[in-house]
Amino acid sequence: MSINLDTDSFYDSFNPIDPNFPLIIAGPCSAETRHQVISTASQIASLNKVTYYRAGLWKPRTRPDGFEGLGEKALPWLAEAKALTGLKMAVEVAMPSHVELSLKAGIDLLWIGARTTANPFSVQEIAEALQGVDIPVLVKNPLHPDLKLWIGALERINKAGVRKLGAVHRGFYTYDNGPFRNLPMWELPIELKRLNPDLPVITDPSHISGKRSLVAEVAQKALDLAMDGLMIESHFHPNHAKTDANQQLTPASLSKILNKLNLRQEFGTEDFESILTEIRREIDHIDSELLQILSRRMEKIEGIGRIKMENNITILQIERLRQMMISRLKTGKELGLDSAFILKLLQLVHKESIQVQTKLLTKKPNNGDL
Ligand code: PEP
Ligand code: MN
Repeated sequence: MSINLDTDSFYDSFNPIDPNFPLIIAGPCSAETRHQVISTASQIASLNKVTYYRAGLWKPRTRPDGFEGLGEKALPWLAEAKALTGLKMAVEVAMPSHVELSLKAGIDLLWIGARTTANPFSVQEIAEALQGVDIPVLVKNPLHPDLKLWIGALERINKAGVRKLGAVHRGFYTYDNGPFRNLPMWELPIELKRLNPDLPVITDPSHISGKRSLVAEVAQKALDLAMDGLMIESHFHPNHAKTDANQQLTPASLSKILNKLNLRQEFGTEDFESILTEIRREIDHIDSELLQILSRRMEKIEGIGRIKMENNITILQIERLRQMMISRLKTGKELGLDSAFILKLLQLVHKESIQVQTKLLTKKPNNGDL
């Protein structure tokens, strides 16, 4: 898949307080009262680590009876908080009117929420309202793990002339999220970065975790995976928050988490890089062997498929599959490989093997010797 983004190095324009510290966006899930907005902002500003203060004004709620945010009424509070603390202001926009009101109120950064990203019509309308806008715009991943939809939304915003573009990784809703509110599925933001190395990707550990106790761990993992920043929800009285009470942190807890973050470099000394290059050469060689082995396996599969076809035997023999899985899992375990990983790998290889044999059935006979 190719990705077609034309962005400025907008990351520089973030101008974080400490250039060695990752970009931090923090603030309450929702703006609730003037006092809450201003007190929380003052406490967050005093940490000296946060660049953008986030607060949701228009809240997309699953059910119509939830708190839907205060809307434009809270915009002047954000302006006040900015004047008081120097923090830049960030809000979520879901409709063109939100964009217009926010720009008029001097908001410094806009983001598109997960529910909106999933709807190309909405994203297109927002893109049109953003035509030529010079402030950073971040696009959260859609609720479900669809990388194309995420990229599509980024492309729509970019095509409207927004060059200060970034992505927010906030996890994905799947049928089994384990301990998370939204499964991180790190492979998706990593793939997004691989496709577009210049695009900053900021992780939102709050919406991934869904609970305070997990935020630190997810935040650290994001930095270990070279993500470019963090968006973390923080509220002066989290337990009384009108939205996402379980995952919001007091500014004091946020401070602890930020101070404990282990910052790693993406590149090391020359010596380190040469050791790395050597190990990578070995890994490249092993990968090449792996692929050759897979290719040999698939050749054998084709052979066995032909014999089954000639003898009118079903492609699948369930007992053979059962035995094969048991023996391979046992070998994998003996070799110290993770069983869940080996199971997934075997299932994938088996699926491909079935496909190879199925293709034989649909191929035209070749000189009658099939
Ligand atoms: C939010 O940031 O408060 C929010 C609604 O997030 P998401 O769009 O990721 O669910
Ligand atoms: Mn929230």
